[in-house]
Amino acid sequence: MTIREIEAKSILRKYKKIDSWFISHYGMNLYRGCAHNCTYCDGKSEGYYVVGDFGKEVTVKINAIEILNRELDPKRKRIPFKRSLIMLGGGVGDTYQPVEKKYKLTKRALQLMYEYNFPVHILTKSTLVKRDIDIIKKINKQSVVIVSFSFSSVDDKISTIFEPGVPAPSERLRTLAFFKDEGIACGMFLLPVIPFITDTLELMEKSISKAKDINLDFIIFGGMTLKEGKQKDYFFNVLNKYNSKLIKKYQDIYKGKKWGEATDKYYGLINSRFNKIATKYKMPKRIPLALYKDILSENDLVTVILEHIDYLLKLKGKRSPYGYAAFSISQLKQPLTTMKEELQKIKGVGKTTENIISEILETGTSAYYEKLMML
Ligand code: SF4
Repeated sequence: MTIREIEAKSILRKYKKIDSWFISHYGMNLYRGCAHNCTYCDGKSEGYYVVGDFGKEVTVKINAIEILNRELDPKRKRIPFKRSLIMLGGGVGDTYQPVEKKYKLTKRALQLMYEYNFPVHILTKSTLVKRDIDIIKKINKQSVVIVSFSFSSVDDKISTIFEPGVPAPSERLRTLAFFKDEGIACGMFLLPVIPFITDTLELMEKSISKAKDINLDFIIFGGMTLKEGKQKDYFFNVLNKYNSKLIKKYQDIYKGKKWGEATDKYYGLINSRFNKIATKYKMPKRIPLALYKDILSENDLVTVILEHIDYLLKLKGKRSPYGYAAFSISQLKQPLTTMKEELQKIKGVGKTTENIISEILETGTSAYYEKLMML
């Protein structure tokens, strides 16, 4: 493994709007590139501009903590922070990949978030996160912390082929159970399921039932993308050795779309499969409101709930106007409570959406949303 140390100019990345998957306005990559080298990782694709040979080289932002300390200091900010969970993980490198043992950037970033009183959402595939239990518990006592692990399934054998660099799913599950025992909210990102390999009814049910067994707070589900170029070439090379007959099936669903998406028909099929199983096991399919309702501004709370409603309806194969309304609200400058009489002037907001927004502003939730989360 080649380690490249660089000095970064900035660390904290602000999203264009609140991300309702993670309940987050901000994220960061302390490392670029990832030694875990999962075969399907989209960090390999050219569009992410990760320098060097992905999986063999990792860039470490050695001044990250110094910069982050400046960026998180509210006294230095002209525009106040938008309240939400700060995302540690995802992106183009696992925040707990092996170099973290030496550099401890993630641990030190957590310490800063504790000092500045920010809630945090950690997403990883590495059991090294257990090392930081003390600081994670301190953040949890002060505000909120969520620890999530991503899985393509809970099958250890398949994982050794497609995720050779990470702890086995059984170890990841044990680590999640450990955090749950410590009183930390935890989630499973069943993302991505690997087409025709881990997206089967049987394996998906196994993954979801294991999540239920250890009482996880939610499961976020998603299919795989496969962008033309390095990502697809690398994956096909492994797939060919695993089962060459699958290549044709992949070519039928991955048609070279810009973002590497599979066909709508395929995503529709696995989404409906997930919906049925998660409903059977009563697993929330989005981060539950109780974990973030006291953190967000009213506009963000409405945006997130509407986006969750939109997702849950589409998961059932239904049409939804709520995504468009949510986007319009996410772009507003003034608080919704000051617009109570003119909500229908917001793009995408009709009578039904207006009623849902008013209910959220009054009660902090929506009965329709809570019902959908259970179905
Ligand atoms: S752990 Fe995540 S970032 Fe790292 S290679 Fe796997 S999918 Fe990519």
